[in-house]
Amino acid sequence: MSKRDYYEILGVPRNAQPDEIKKAYRKVAMQYHPDRNPGDKASEEKFKEAAEAYDVLSDQEKKNRYDRFGHQGMSGNGGFGGGGQGGMNMEDIFSHFGDIFGGGRSGGGFEDFFGGGRSRGEKQRGIRGSNLRVKINLTLREMAEGTHKKLKVKKYVPCNTCHGSGAKDKSSYNTCNTCHGSGYVRRVQNTILGQMQTTTTCPTCNGEGQIITARCAVCHGDGRVYGEETITVDIPAGVTDGIQLSMGGKGNAGERGGANGDLIIQIEEEPNEELKREGNNIVYDLHISFMDAALGTQLDVPTVDGKARIKIKPGTQAGEIFRLKGKGLPNLNSYGKGDQLIYVNVWTPKNLTSEEQKILEKLRDHENFKPHNTKGEKGFFEKMKDYFS
Ligand SMILES: [Zn+2]
Ligand SMILES: [Zn+2]
Repeated sequence: MSKRDYYEILGVPRNAQPDEIKKAYRKVAMQYHPDRNPGDKASEEKFKEAAEAYDVLSDQEKKNRYDRFGHQGMSGNGGFGGGGQGGMNMEDIFSHFGDIFGGGRSGGGFEDFFGGGRSRGEKQRGIRGSNLRVKINLTLREMAEGTHKKLKVKKYVPCNTCHGSGAKDKSSYNTCNTCHGSGYVRRVQNTILGQMQTTTTCPTCNGEGQIITARCAVCHGDGRVYGEETITVDIPAGVTDGIQLSMGGKGNAGERGGANGDLIIQIEEEPNEELKREGNNIVYDLHISFMDAALGTQLDVPTVDGKARIKIKPGTQAGEIFRLKGKGLPNLNSYGKGDQLIYVNVWTPKNLTSEEQKILEKLRDHENFKPHNTKGEKGFFEKMKDYFS
């Protein structure tokens, strides 16, 4: 892959002054900033490309070398966090902004540079809270129709007294001595090709740039306390047993203003005595009497949304399957709904009075009561195959 010219990337002439280069970079970086183009790979590449170009053109020594030798002069030379050509990542870029514009997060480096909004510096404050897991039991009906659930979740919440900072008051901070407030420490190594610089999070202040000198009395400096929050969860129609829904930022609060963890909700299906779920279909075992099978009738069967009346034709066989179209569950990620399948079982009596026995004995040898397979009528296994193929 051939690299684009750095001047071209920033859209400046070769004789551009430092101020002009900085302004041009700011414009390009704003345009392709990942916070403004979430998930857009092409923008991310442009953002990285611009950062690399600026890294070189804003440094007189690197710029001279680039002007004389082009990209060849830069390769392997740790232009970017020691990553060399194309080896930089977002962390490098954002840490470099802090270095380039001085002062890091507390000095307003990123925020000044990007003109407010959600800044990277803000994100790295404190320690991120952990994810929380909860289970929710749902009936088949709730799964079919979707529902709202109010959950009382015990978890870490931000401390109200210090607003999550962990400090007693605004004057209870000292600038970190190790990183002088930038939140990063730089290490410079000498290599054959010149100096190579790496930047890592400051171990003393954990990247926060400042140290708390007097702690909040309520949370003892954590910036969070154990508490409870009522959370309303929207459950879409068509979820299945075992599926996990994630609610970003609804987990444990972070320490000292760090980002919240996520709330992970695991769905469990409440057992239903009558209805079984098979994929998006609902299966129901219907038991009818021999008389109802022979004479026909109408009866009610349970479905996920109440009762449905079905008709049993005279001469219904055991093993027949009725289908209630659209009475199953919807697909979570696409259109369409499953059906309810009703398996017909014919109940054979186990205890008979002598009078009942006599009636049945009378019928036993009648020609119509002798089982036979009508030509063209499918057996039980063929019917099953039809339904599940
Ligand atoms: Zn507090
Ligand atoms: Zn520090």
